[in-house]
Amino acid sequence: MLVDAKTLALFGGTPVRAAFLPYSRQTVSAADRSAVLRVLDSDFLTTGPEVVSFEEKLQRVTGGAYAAAVSNGTAALHCMLDAYSIAPGDEVIVPVITFAATANAVRYMGATPVFADVESDTLLIDPAKVEHLVNPSTKAIIAVDFAGQPADYSGLRSVLPDRVYLLADAAHSIGASLDMKPVGTLADASTFSFHPVKPVAAGEGGAVVSIDNDVIKSVKTFRNHGIDNDHEARKSANTWTYSISRLGFNYRLSDIHCALASSQLDSMESRRLRRQELSEMYDSLLSELTGVSPLVLRHGIVSSHHLYVVKLDLKMFTEGRDMFFSALRAENIGVNVHYQPIPAHPYYQNSGDSLTDCPVGADAYEIILSLPLWSGMTNTDLEDVVTALKKVTAAFKR
Ligand SMILES: *Cc1c(COP(=O)(O)O)cnc(C)c1O
Repeated sequence: MLVDAKTLALFGGTPVRAAFLPYSRQTVSAADRSAVLRVLDSDFLTTGPEVVSFEEKLQRVTGGAYAAAVSNGTAALHCMLDAYSIAPGDEVIVPVITFAATANAVRYMGATPVFADVESDTLLIDPAKVEHLVNPSTKAIIAVDFAGQPADYSGLRSVLPDRVYLLADAAHSIGASLDMKPVGTLADASTFSFHPVKPVAAGEGGAVVSIDNDVIKSVKTFRNHGIDNDHEARKSANTWTYSISRLGFNYRLSDIHCALASSQLDSMESRRLRRQELSEMYDSLLSELTGVSPLVLRHGIVSSHHLYVVKLDLKMFTEGRDMFFSALRAENIGVNVHYQPIPAHPYYQNSGDSLTDCPVGADAYEIILSLPLWSGMTNTDLEDVVTALKKVTAAFKR
């Protein structure tokens, strides 16, 4: 029995959990379900009253920024960069550790993503590194609120010329704040994702918010084929004509999705508090484990606690991160890795990008693991994760 409890499931032992624990999943309430069902019986399935009321609600939770809902977080990035007229020849600075969409969206505009290194303790884009990357072609920067912690926006502002737009990929951080200022007002414009693992789930969905209403008006045209969005005026003039003022896409979000996202916004803070509680439990249980440490939360931050990322001190272990990943998965613990550095992907390698200028991000990638974290997780689930981590660290102890 004792031997079996110690033998890693990877090597034939009994897994810590009988059932697989995912690293994340959505939490859908009865109120969420009835909100969606109401739409199914209404006059609108796509663009209707739910879109407008969702955008108004978003505006309230993001500190008064204007909002436009779009089909997903990647489309939101595309819409935002279009609104700032990012074009071929422009450079846009992005962090080396982020989801590929942050850099891909720069490519959609024919512009060049320039990768900035991150800080080792937070994995947030490092203002000191950004400073050296700015040149006359630099048009914008997209900071990423990694794991739910807002980036250092004032630090970034202080190293950027006024002409460079400070933008936020806030896919992880809706509901978070920095020095009491909510995400949504920290940058010139910010994007959200409502993918099921994100703090607000719509199935698929995204949004752009900005204190500059011209940016949001532009997004509303771009998301609807480039059609000037004055459909109310068309209706009152009793005409079918509309004009395409420029090229756009179909990036609309449906009323069905908006009803779900809207209902999820109502309960966002209670889910955030639960993730905060779970994160604090991890903090205290992991403090007894040598060689495993969480990322640092800076002073003045209220995090959305989207991810719980730990770093492994590989000096202490006989195995690397990949073996930790396999061993924990075998114990039925759904660990994950956020993220592979973007310049390491073949598409970016083929474009001449390399990791050599981002040594901190490159090194961090070798030692990071995301532990399961979602609001519907039980304390017992979390204890299973820690038990599995203890088992694996003991087996791999140097
Ligand atoms: C999820 C995510 C996106 C993309 O959002 P989608 O809604 O999946 O298109 C972009 N950036 C970051 C940092 C993300 O985590």
